[in-house]
Amino acid sequence: MWSPQMGWGRTAPSVSRVIKPLDVAGIEAAVMSGSAVIARGLGRSYGDAAQNAGGAVLDLATLNSIAWGEAGIVTVGAGLCLRDLINDAVPRGWFVPVTPGTSWVTIGGAIAADVHGKNHHRDGSFGAHVLRIGIVDGRGDRLDLTPSDERFWATIGGMGLTGIIIDATVQMIPIPGRHMTVSTRRTADFDSTVEALMSADSARYSVAWLDSLATGAACGRGIVTFGEHSSDAGAGKGDAVAAPRISAPEIFPDQLLNRRTVAAFNSLWFRLAPSHRDGQRQSLAEFFHPLDAVAHWNRVYGTRGFLQYQCVVPAGELEILRRIFTRFVDAQVPSFLTVLKRFGAASNAPLSFPIPGWTLTLDIPTDVPGLPAILAAADDLVTHAGGRLYLAKDSRMPARLMPLMYPRLGQWQAIRDAMDPNGVFTSDLGSRLGLLRPGRG
Ligand SMILES: Cc1cc2nc3c(=O)[nH]c(=O)nc-3n(C[C@H](O)[C@H](O)[C@H](O)COP(=O)(O)OP(=O)(O)OC[C@H]3O[C@@H](n4cnc5c(N)ncnc54)[C@H](O)[C@@H]3O)c2cc1C
Repeated sequence: MWSPQMGWGRTAPSVSRVIKPLDVAGIEAAVMSGSAVIARGLGRSYGDAAQNAGGAVLDLATLNSIAWGEAGIVTVGAGLCLRDLINDAVPRGWFVPVTPGTSWVTIGGAIAADVHGKNHHRDGSFGAHVLRIGIVDGRGDRLDLTPSDERFWATIGGMGLTGIIIDATVQMIPIPGRHMTVSTRRTADFDSTVEALMSADSARYSVAWLDSLATGAACGRGIVTFGEHSSDAGAGKGDAVAAPRISAPEIFPDQLLNRRTVAAFNSLWFRLAPSHRDGQRQSLAEFFHPLDAVAHWNRVYGTRGFLQYQCVVPAGELEILRRIFTRFVDAQVPSFLTVLKRFGAASNAPLSFPIPGWTLTLDIPTDVPGLPAILAAADDLVTHAGGRLYLAKDSRMPARLMPLMYPRLGQWQAIRDAMDPNGVFTSDLGSRLGLLRPGRG
């Protein structure tokens, strides 16, 4: 069936043939069919990573098996949703080693984007906890890849362009119960936000929300939260990650999120936070996936959609990060979800996004006046600092920046080309950013 596909930002849809293989033989047949192919998870990447104009998109929802081994080692189908794995794991005393800000992500999507969470400074990204990947490569061959193989690392963060992941073996982490003990610090400006985040480094999970519209002495004010897993005394039963409580309606007026409304939201959010609180008990869902309480919240941005700008700069380039953030503030770009986070060590994977340093994320409506120039100036600062943008969030970066931001791109391309000599795997992102050899995609 041909249908339009788009990312979470709801920009730049393209039409592809959607194939739903029932098993691995169906995947092998799709790969050998002569059509260009890309795997699609739950479409939670913001841009065009899981789209394939004129080609095929493989929906792997049927590959949702869970098989437990010893000591928290689990083998899962690539189409399994992280929330289903969490709900199966928590009653057994285990949790996913890394979770992004939404639980509506598949195992295949988590590996292909090498996703990170609030614990990156301690535990690294998702790929660091994967022990084995089962994949169908561009020749239709089924391979088992382990961390001693360069094809394993090309697949981690490889945005689906090295093959179709069919299953993976993951080391989960032990947890004492289904709750978190959380601390909160409200911070007055950029420096105190950074300081509070650094002093939260010993916590397993930490993150800061920033008020992107506060100016002057309040520029960079925010809310830093950090937490640890805690036990269940007095806790109820039920799913660790519950179904969404409400759903955003299909139609929202364009420009509902503008400078005025976002400034009001930001200010309220800031004021509601306690200035200093320790020992608050939160559910796993409240702490890790608060946005999941509202299904389809991306519709709030209206028909024009939105983009997420997520960059990382090396640890020593905090001043450049401050300049990047200040430029967004000076331009009064209305972002409600503005997040600052520390990253720890990088992974072995050539296209993995995190490097040791600071990552800044802003959700931005696409109709902000002058946005392309604002983002181009931010790109220059990120590149100058030796930083990069996150491919799973990107919908607009120029291809010329790719080798500057990802210096191991050539190495990744050589491995990719060997895994896919006939150029079967293509995506809109791969074509737009020149990830594929000329003539492919
Ligand atoms: C609200 C929200 C919060 C988020 N927070 C974070 C965060 O904190 N940290 C973070 O790192 N990311 C975050 N993300 C991004 C998200 O985690 C990634 O984009 C993830 O890849 C989405 O998974 P998916 O299953 O929806 O994959 P899709 O978006 O459908 O696909 C993403 C990529 O994975 C590839 N892929 C999917 N399945 C397979 C497979 N079986 N084999 C090979 N390739 C495959 C696709 O080809 C594509 O290139 C967030 C996204 C949202 C919407």
